[in-house]
Amino acid sequence: IIRMEGVNKWYGQFQVLTGIDLAVRAGERIVVCGPSGSGKSTLIRCINRLETVQQGRIVVDGIELTAGGRNVDRVRAEVGMVFQQFNLFPHLTILENCTLAPMRSRGMGKAEAEEVAMKYLTRVRIPEQAKKYPSQLSGGQQQRVAIARALCMSPKIMLFDEPTSALDPEMVKEVLDTMISLADDGMTMLCVTHEMGFARSVADRVIFMAEGRIVEQAAPREFFSNPQDERTRTFLGQIL
Ligand code: ATP
Ligand code: MG
Repeated sequence: IIRMEGVNKWYGQFQVLTGIDLAVRAGERIVVCGPSGSGKSTLIRCINRLETVQQGRIVVDGIELTAGGRNVDRVRAEVGMVFQQFNLFPHLTILENCTLAPMRSRGMGKAEAEEVAMKYLTRVRIPEQAKKYPSQLSGGQQQRVAIARALCMSPKIMLFDEPTSALDPEMVKEVLDTMISLADDGMTMLCVTHEMGFARSVADRVIFMAEGRIVEQAAPREFFSNPQDERTRTFLGQIL
């Protein structure tokens, strides 16, 4: 459902992605890890065109992203993204945060959008917070709203960029549990995370990046028990 071929990207003189080849099947769960600055965020931001690339091809659900034009909007409608900082609109209620995009870009009526929003807020187990504002919720609750908001667009793919790293430890689990339940439903997921317990139990494949390259990738069992590259071993030694 995602194909990246020979992707190279620079910020000015600095090459942030080098020779990225990546194919993701529908329903696959992928965890991306690696040292700070290795290009993980840049990689997943390229998949919904928050970043452009200078070389290579990116095809998402049969839509050629690198061709630009209206394809960008089509892909964005299919790809949900959740960030480290929850990025909720502070002046809108939880419910309004969830109904905004479906009403604006899907042309959904208010009643239907609210029905969909309540379905997903129930799904992430906070329907009772719908009338509150983001600042009235805990970090874990806000992140679950961010997930519900993305789901309201019925995405085929969900991208997560360190969704738990801004959270207090006691709230990490509730967000991971939400992600696990999405995985159980068969959602295609790419998650940048250093939660290796999540990687072990949920991922079909773990990708390790360093210096803008995919250094190695393997099923979690293989990845953790028998890392091939020296940099992977160093990294795992630091975080496990
Ligand atoms: P972290 O684990 O710290 O989030 P990351 O693996 O997600 O790191 P990226 O955010 O993708 O790394 O950044 C990769 C490199 O690109 C870093 O060296 C960063 O400084 C650089 N970089 C990122 N965004 C920009 C930008 N807009 N302009 C210039 N350089 C950038
Ligand atoms: Mg990052």
